[in-house]
Amino acid sequence: MQLHFIANAPVRSSSERTLPVIDPSDGQPYDTIQRGTPEDIDAAVRAARQCFEGPWGKLSAAERGRLLMRLSLKVSACSEELAAIEQRDCGKPTKQARADALALARYFEFYAGACDKLHGETLPYQEGYTVLTWREPHGVTGHVIPWNYPMQIFGRSVGGALAAGNACVVKPSEDACVSLIRVAQLAAEVGFPAGAINIVTGLGHEVGDALARHAGVDHISFTGSPRVGTLIQQAAAERHCPVTLELGGKSPQIVFADADLEQVLPTVVNAIVQNAGQTCSAGSRLLVEDSVYEPLLERLGEAFTRLRVGPAAMDLDVGPLIRQSQQQRVWDFLSDAQHAGISLVAQGTVVDEAPQSGFYQAPTLLRDVPVAHRLAQEEVFGPVLAAMRFRDEDHAVELANATRFGLVAGVWTRDGGRMLRMARRVRSGQVFINNYGAGGGVELPFGGVKSSGHGREKGFEALYGFTTLKTVAIRHG
Ligand code: NAP
Ligand code: MG
Repeated sequence: MQLHFIANAPVRSSSERTLPVIDPSDGQPYDTIQRGTPEDIDAAVRAARQCFEGPWGKLSAAERGRLLMRLSLKVSACSEELAAIEQRDCGKPTKQARADALALARYFEFYAGACDKLHGETLPYQEGYTVLTWREPHGVTGHVIPWNYPMQIFGRSVGGALAAGNACVVKPSEDACVSLIRVAQLAAEVGFPAGAINIVTGLGHEVGDALARHAGVDHISFTGSPRVGTLIQQAAAERHCPVTLELGGKSPQIVFADADLEQVLPTVVNAIVQNAGQTCSAGSRLLVEDSVYEPLLERLGEAFTRLRVGPAAMDLDVGPLIRQSQQQRVWDFLSDAQHAGISLVAQGTVVDEAPQSGFYQAPTLLRDVPVAHRLAQEEVFGPVLAAMRFRDEDHAVELANATRFGLVAGVWTRDGGRMLRMARRVRSGQVFINNYGAGGGVELPFGGVKSSGHGREKGFEALYGFTTLKTVAIRHG
């Protein structure tokens, strides 16, 4: 049985109830987590506050950095253990689970080095004054983490918050908690003071909601669906608590006729099948210039047909989806496509070894998807790529910007002027030219515009969001 982790100790929920932990590869429960309560959240927030006002708040920035570096090294040393936990809990193929554990170590490394580089300024002002700005931590930060990349999103969100000097209360998704409980234990082992990192598990509408509403939480970082993002922002607005929202996307890969198709092909495939398409920055729309549309689709179809899907431990191209309801969601999109007469170009194969009770979905390439159809507008969060053609640069921009999202975009062209025009005209938080980061790049600020959310995590930029600026004006004559 897994317990909450509050003030460096395992804690049972006041509900005395548990939830099952399910292996997506076979759909079977194999452990339990605590079904947390608002009282559990309250205990975690109080622990965080005490730590912030006590030992954590008293550490110098350099000392915080040293602790984060020790945690980075510990996570690296335990990366196989963490990857194995994640593989079973989330159905990640081995390569992906390992990459996630190492990315977590890298986030802590990056933010370890950043702690003592964050500083304010001295401002020119009137004669007889000295004016300073300080970057202060918010205090207690709340982190609602989704199930698709628990370790990576914990690293970017909690890593940045700790570097800035906050104490953290984390609500992971009920479908993906186990690795994060272990990471919090590792943090205690390397010397983080009790209350710096607290984990409370449970259901979103119970403990996630309680965290967003808690008066003792000074900042909320949320990654997940637009629907819940709205609820979080509304709850936080009641007490004017700042929020960072990362709400996913419908990110376009825009391929011009002059692009190097040898580079385009593997990257476009990976950007939609990585993590079974359950990636906020998945390249889920493929926009292709008329003259290369048919040849590119033909070759992509061949690549999709070769993809193999199976149990996480087999380490194939694609593992299972996280849970049955997510599988059903993908099926609903595909049946809508069929009813709308949208043609299927190719599908991968679910291998015979995959248990019927697992949550598998073959990667699927669809063509000529109408721009208004929900497959061109909504996040499927599965390995489904919607292709459509464009006439020229203006048309490409129009299609790229024709959703309510704006997280990431990929542009493929050899024309230098076009690279820059496209980067300026596409509305998104990140633009990749002749590559596609798909969420990688710890150093690169990440976040959206429009319904993809607001605020930036990752990179040094994140530290500005996890701090508040104080201006100090001294009149000394
Ligand atoms: P979700 O409901 O938004 O879940 C994200 C997180 O919010 C989870 O920790 C969840 O906890 C929690 N939560 C749920 N209801 C809450 C509430 N009322 N108050 C506070 N926290 C709450 O996302 P989902 O249902 O797992 O996935 C649905 C869709 O969201 C996906 O298909 C995808 O489109 C999108 N999504 C996007 C991202 C991203 O990276 N942008 C990540 C995940 C999902 P529980 O899971 O324990 O309920
Ligand atoms: Mg699970």
